[in-house]
Amino acid sequence: MELDSDLAGTSDTEVPVSPAPNAAAPPLIPVPPPRLSPSGAGTFVQCPRRWRFRYIDRLKDPPSEDALAGSFAHRVLELLMQREPSERTIEEARVISRTEWPDTEAMDDYQALEHDEKQSRHFRWKAWTAIEGLWHLEDPAAVEVRATEQDVEAELAGVPFRGIVDRIEQEGDGLVVTDYKSGKAPSHRYRRSRLDQVLLYAAAVEASTGEMPVRARLLYLGQRTVGMDVTDKEIDAVTEKLAGTWTEIRTACSEDEFEPRPGPLCGWCPYVSMCPQGAAEAAKRADRKAAREAELVAMAS
Ligand code: SF4
Repeated sequence: MELDSDLAGTSDTEVPVSPAPNAAAPPLIPVPPPRLSPSGAGTFVQCPRRWRFRYIDRLKDPPSEDALAGSFAHRVLELLMQREPSERTIEEARVISRTEWPDTEAMDDYQALEHDEKQSRHFRWKAWTAIEGLWHLEDPAAVEVRATEQDVEAELAGVPFRGIVDRIEQEGDGLVVTDYKSGKAPSHRYRRSRLDQVLLYAAAVEASTGEMPVRARLLYLGQRTVGMDVTDKEIDAVTEKLAGTWTEIRTACSEDEFEPRPGPLCGWCPYVSMCPQGAAEAAKRADRKAAREAELVAMAS
């Protein structure tokens, strides 16, 4: 699962073998993680420097309201889908939410947000909107659940892969791999690339169970479903891409070279204050935006 703001990145993990999570004492020679997850691969493709901060130096991302709300929604949906079909109702989801909320509220990451009562209400409303959004996409009682939060590990095209699949269900013609998303659904242009994650999950399910899922899909809660049929051609394409990224990661580690890749996401990168190139890019973009806004104000007056 990922909250993208993704209920993103919350479900698949890598466990770096490098020592202590201490920015002041990074390992002398970066060691690649023992397994690669879709979020780890995606981070490296976006920016190798960012990947190093996260997976070698093990700097924790600062707590994010969107990520936490997404994780909470995931947890509630996970428990809901473990109920008998007839119990998968909105009322039951409310009961689960109320039961689960104290645990989330007590988490250090949530406490770090320092929400007052109004902000706390807004947080719960945001999470609830995602949870309730499932009913806009499907009738949960009609889903034949085979597994939830399924940990899948497999070697894919020579890459030690790990992911956690939100849900595997049985449909008439075979298995379906499903991931919940609480972030914004992609435009048509980015639709296909967002499906790489679930296609990799499908490949890992096949490698570990011998049964290839017939479909892979993302449920953008409250918005729409983005999915596709799983074919050998698509599986080959995503696993080859994963293998390419894995090779680049190993090379970067052996050469201790993690180039920054400044771009539009630098302004949201949690490590921007430690990255001169990213800070310059973010400042340049902020200046351009301010100039554009000033121009619009001038035109309107
Ligand atoms: S600020 Fe930009 S260039 Fe620097 S690490 Fe983050 S994403 Fe990469």
